[in-house]
Amino acid sequence: MKTSVIGYPRIGALRELKFASEKYFKNEITLEELKETAARLRKAHWEIQKQYGVDFIPSNDFSFYDNLLDTAALLNIIPERYRSLGLNEMDTYFAMARGYQGARGDVKALAMKKWFNTNYHYIVPEVEDEARIELKGTKPFAEYLEAKSCGVETKPVVTGAYTLLKSVRFTGTKNIAAVKADVIRAYQELLKKFGELGTKWVQFDEPALVLDLTQEDLSLLTELYGAILEGKGGVKVLAQTYFGDVRDCWSALLSLPFDGLGLDFVEGTRSLELLRGGFPEEKTLFAGVVNGKNIWKNNYEKTLDILRKLSAAAKNVVIGTSCSLLHVPYTIHAETKLSDAYTQYFAFAEEKLGELSELKEIASAQAPKNVPAYAKNRDLFARPRDCVNEAVQKKAAAVTEQDFTRLPAFEKRAEIQKSVLKLPLLPTTTIGSFPQTADVRANRTAFKKGTITEDQYKAFNRQKIAECVALQEKIGLDVLVHGEFERNDMVEYFGECLDGFLFTEKAWVQSYGTRCVKPPIIWGDISRSKPMTVEYSVYAQSLTERPVKGMLTGPVTILNWSFPREDVSFRESAMQIALAIREEVLDLEASGIRIIQIDEAALREKLPLRHSDRHSQYLDWAIPAFRLVHSGVKPETQIHTHMCYSEFEDIIKEIDDMDADVITFEASRSDLRIIEVLQENHFRTAVGPGVYDIHSPRVPSVEEIETALRKMLERIPAEKLWVNPDCGLKTRGNEETVPSLEHLVAAAHSVRESL
Ligand code: GLN
Ligand code: ZN
Repeated sequence: MKTSVIGYPRIGALRELKFASEKYFKNEITLEELKETAARLRKAHWEIQKQYGVDFIPSNDFSFYDNLLDTAALLNIIPERYRSLGLNEMDTYFAMARGYQGARGDVKALAMKKWFNTNYHYIVPEVEDEARIELKGTKPFAEYLEAKSCGVETKPVVTGAYTLLKSVRFTGTKNIAAVKADVIRAYQELLKKFGELGTKWVQFDEPALVLDLTQEDLSLLTELYGAILEGKGGVKVLAQTYFGDVRDCWSALLSLPFDGLGLDFVEGTRSLELLRGGFPEEKTLFAGVVNGKNIWKNNYEKTLDILRKLSAAAKNVVIGTSCSLLHVPYTIHAETKLSDAYTQYFAFAEEKLGELSELKEIASAQAPKNVPAYAKNRDLFARPRDCVNEAVQKKAAAVTEQDFTRLPAFEKRAEIQKSVLKLPLLPTTTIGSFPQTADVRANRTAFKKGTITEDQYKAFNRQKIAECVALQEKIGLDVLVHGEFERNDMVEYFGECLDGFLFTEKAWVQSYGTRCVKPPIIWGDISRSKPMTVEYSVYAQSLTERPVKGMLTGPVTILNWSFPREDVSFRESAMQIALAIREEVLDLEASGIRIIQIDEAALREKLPLRHSDRHSQYLDWAIPAFRLVHSGVKPETQIHTHMCYSEFEDIIKEIDDMDADVITFEASRSDLRIIEVLQENHFRTAVGPGVYDIHSPRVPSVEEIETALRKMLERIPAEKLWVNPDCGLKTRGNEETVPSLEHLVAAAHSVRESL
C-alpha cells in the first residue's frame, strides 16, 4: 500500500510565512524576500514528507493567502476594480485578499467565508460578466517544477472545477451555465500542460461533493468532468473529496474516467457503505483514514479494520489523510511544557506523517500484530485515560428543562432593559477586543516567561484598560468594552482558565490569510474553579458611568475552536462548558456588570454540511447549550452575543432561539443581504450588523457607514439597531482603529439626528 497527503500546512512551524507576509505588507521587506521565505517553506515541507516516505506528496497546496483565490487567479477570475489598480500580479492578488487603500485607489477586499465545517476561511472569488476565464497563471506548474528540482515528484493540487464553480459569486447576469465552457477549456489546458511537464498525478480537490446535491448539480459534475478528463492524456487524475461522504454523487464519480477517487473515512459516515457495491479495478481508492482535523493519535486497530474492508472491495488502496493537514499544527515536538503523559496521545501534522508510514508498514506486514508500532498503539488505547471529573458529571446530570429557559420572555425584558440602561437610539459599541499592540503582547510574553511578576503583569493590563476606556469615552461610544488585553485568543484564554483543557505553545493553525489560532485541547471533563474575567471587568466598569460589557466566549465556540475529545460526544463537552460559563455570567452580574456579551463567533462551525443532519446532530444541543449559559440572569441584565458570519440565513430561527437580547455580526463584506433575511423572518433579537470590515486595514468613511446604516434602517426598526464594527479589533492597529471608530460614531450620530 502507498500513502498520500492531501495538503500540508504552509504558514511555517514558526509562522514564518505570516511574519514575512506582514512585513511585506508594511513594506519592510521586498517581494523577492517574501518569495524566498515561501520557497524555503515549500522545500522543507516536501522534504519532511519525503523523509516519512509519503508516496503522493502534494504541491501547489502552498498559498500566499488562500488556495481558492489562487485558483481564481490561475483562471484569470479577477474583478475589474482590482485589475484597474494597475498593480503587479502579487499585489493584485493581495488587494483581492485584503483590500487596497493607497495612491492608486481604495477598494475593499473580496468576501471571506468559512471553508466548509472548518475554522479556515477562504476568499470568495467574484465572476463579473466581463471576466475572461482562461488558464492564465503559472503557479501550479512552477511549484511542481520547483519540487522536482528539490528531487521530489509531487502530485499538484488544484481546486476542482465543480467546487470552484460552486464557491464563486456571480456579480452580473452570468451564471454557471454561461461560464462552464470556458472553465472546462481552462482545466483541459491545465491537464495538457501538466502532461507536457511529465506530471504523473493531478489532484482536483472537490469537497463540495460532500454537500447535498441536486439533480442539476449531478449533471454539472458529469458534464464538467466528462469534458475535462477527455484530454487528460497520460496524466492521472484524482478527484479528492473530504469533510464528509459522497453519497449523492457516488455512482456519477464511478462512471467518470477518474483514475483515483479520494474518500473521507473519518467524517464520511457512509463512505464504507458506498464501497459495498465494489470498486473498479482500474481506479485507485485514496482512503482518508488519518484525521486531518483533530490532534489525537490514530487508533490503528480501528483503522486497520477499515483498511481490511477497503482492500476486500478495491484492488488499489492508498492510505491517506482525511483532509488537508492545514487544519492541524505542525509538530508535537515544539511543545516543551506538556508532559509525555499527555503528548503520547497526540499526533500533529508531522506525527501524522509518521502514522501514515507506520500504517503502511503494518498493513503490508504478514503478521501486523507483531509490528512494534502496532503493539504500542494498541496498548495506548487499551489503558484508561485520566480525564474524568465526577463532580462535573453530577452537575451536568442535574440540569433540568427549566435551566434552558430565560424568564421573563424577550419583549418584557427588552422594556425593562430600556428603562434601566437608558441607551440612545442606534447605540454604538465594539465587539470586544482593541488592538493587540506590541506592548500588549510583550507584557503577556514577559509574564509567561516569568520575567515580570503577576502584579506587574496585571498593573500593565489595568493601565491599558484605563486608556482604552478613556479612548472609547473620547470617541463617544455608548457601550464600552475593557479591550481584552489579557487575552491572546478568545478561546485559548478560557481554555487556560478552565479545568479540563490543555494548551500548547506553538500549535498554531491558519484561520485565514496571515491569521493563525492556537486551539486548546479538550482533554477531560470541564469545570471552572474560580472567576475568570470578573476582576478586569469590574475594574473597567469602575472607570466610567457608561455600561462596560462583560465579555465571555460561549460554549459552542469554545468547543468548536478547540480540538475536541474523541471519546465523548460534542454535546456532552458543550454542556459541561456551558455550566462553567454560566457560573461566570452569574458572578459578573453579581459584581454589577449590566451587559454581558457571550460570543458565539463559531456557532456555525460544526453545523453538519448536510441539511438532514443539522438538527439531530447539532442544533438540538448547540442552541440549548447557549441558553443554559444565560438563563439564570435577572431581566435587567442585557445579554449580547456575537457571531462572526452573517451566513445564518438557513438557521435564522435557531439564532433567534438563542434568546439573546442583542446579536452583533459581520455583514459588511456580504452585501447586506442578511438584513432582508432578518426582516423576512421577523427576527426578534436586536441586531448590530457590522458596518465596516475589520479584516482589512482600510478606514471606512463616515458617508459609507451612514449609507450602510440607512440601508439597514429600511428593514430594521431603529429600536432594534445597534452600530458596531463587524468583529473584534484585536488584529488591527490603532492607526486605523481610532479613525474608523470616530467615523462610526459620527455616522451613527448623524443618522440618529435625522430619525
Ligand atoms: N470579543 C471578541 C473580540 O472582540 C470576538 C472575536 C471574534 O468574534 N472572533 O475579539
Ligand atoms: Zn467576530
